[in-house]
Amino acid sequence: MSQILKDYLNTQLTELKDNGLYNEIDVVEGENGPVISIDGQELINLSSNNYLGLATDEDLKQAAKEAVDSHGVGAGAVRTINGTLDLHKELEDTLAEFKGTEAVIAFTSGFNANQGAIPAIMKKGDAILSDELNHASIIDGCRLSGAKIIRVNHSDMDDLRKKAKEATESGEYNKVMFITDGVFSMDGDVALLPEIVEIAKEFDLITYVDDAHGSGVMGKGAGTVKHFGLEKEVDMQMGTLSKAIGVVGGYVAGSQELIDYLKVAGRPFLFSTALTPADTKAITEAVRKIMASTELHDKLWENGDYLKAGLKNLGFDIGHSETPITPVIIGEEKLTQEFSKRLKEEGVYAKSIVFPTVPRGTGRVRNMPTAAHTKEMLDDALKIYEKVGKELGII
Ligand SMILES: *Cc1c(COP(=O)(O)O)cnc(C)c1O
Repeated sequence: MSQILKDYLNTQLTELKDNGLYNEIDVVEGENGPVISIDGQELINLSSNNYLGLATDEDLKQAAKEAVDSHGVGAGAVRTINGTLDLHKELEDTLAEFKGTEAVIAFTSGFNANQGAIPAIMKKGDAILSDELNHASIIDGCRLSGAKIIRVNHSDMDDLRKKAKEATESGEYNKVMFITDGVFSMDGDVALLPEIVEIAKEFDLITYVDDAHGSGVMGKGAGTVKHFGLEKEVDMQMGTLSKAIGVVGGYVAGSQELIDYLKVAGRPFLFSTALTPADTKAITEAVRKIMASTELHDKLWENGDYLKAGLKNLGFDIGHSETPITPVIIGEEKLTQEFSKRLKEEGVYAKSIVFPTVPRGTGRVRNMPTAAHTKEMLDDALKIYEKVGKELGII
């Protein structure tokens, strides 16, 4: 091993560990459902993004098995060479119907979708107005584009209007985009899309909404953009197939011209092998299920509301979430980590989220109830929350 590499890794790892920022990754034994097993211990799982419980759904498993039988295990190539299977076309047509747009392009992950779509449209000489709480994959996609990045205060419409006006009137930029999460994953708040669309119209901004945490959750399942009825107004709707949809992959939905162009200009689409047949068929099944019935969506919200009310009644600070994402805000980083650790020892798996993922002093334990949780599981979790909260003097 190179000595320089060895020294570099040692320095980095030591520094991270000294600052309490090194993350030991737990191994989940078996499926990632509402109850999981780690080191032989059964835990009520409030840490997944598996909102609708589809990651372990029997119909999706069956769809994946059938696809393996009919199409094998791999797509064989990137989409543009000969990796576009009939299953991929079926998926993209189904997603377009789901999103209410003319067309969709699928990528192998949501991260990839942002790496592909943002730099395909935005270039050096352009400007991107970006909400300060946007996801890391958006930030990286913006950096990769070479466009000027202008941070906008979180959900601050006056700041957006001011910066949109400055950027467009300066004459310095060829195009200006505003990019935002639809649902912000750390606080569970929703982007102010009607106001955003108004401002975008006034200054002819390109609008891009990353709805990773909105699909399956908002708009009776179809996402935040459809929740506000803005499918025709938002230019680019990006989403992931790994959270509420339960599998893996990402996509961008929009006009036919947009998708035609991304299929020739989105680099991860051009240079990374297509989704596997099993994934593709399972995703299509998931989307059809969500379109056919709101049962899972309704259960998710019922569970989310139940957990929120329970935690609030116990005296916890649950922030201002408008979705099932339920942060319990503790504040101090060390106490937040201790709280999460004690919850785990007592049987609840809810991860601590601290600086730099969230601002200093706003450490929290984030809870993601799903449609697969039962009332009994949530009641057990609340009892454990009460015990640990009192023990650590938080409530
Ligand atoms: C999770 C997430 C992504 C990445 O999606 P993957 O499919 O997991 O790669 C992108 N954007 C946001 C806002 C996310 O929360």
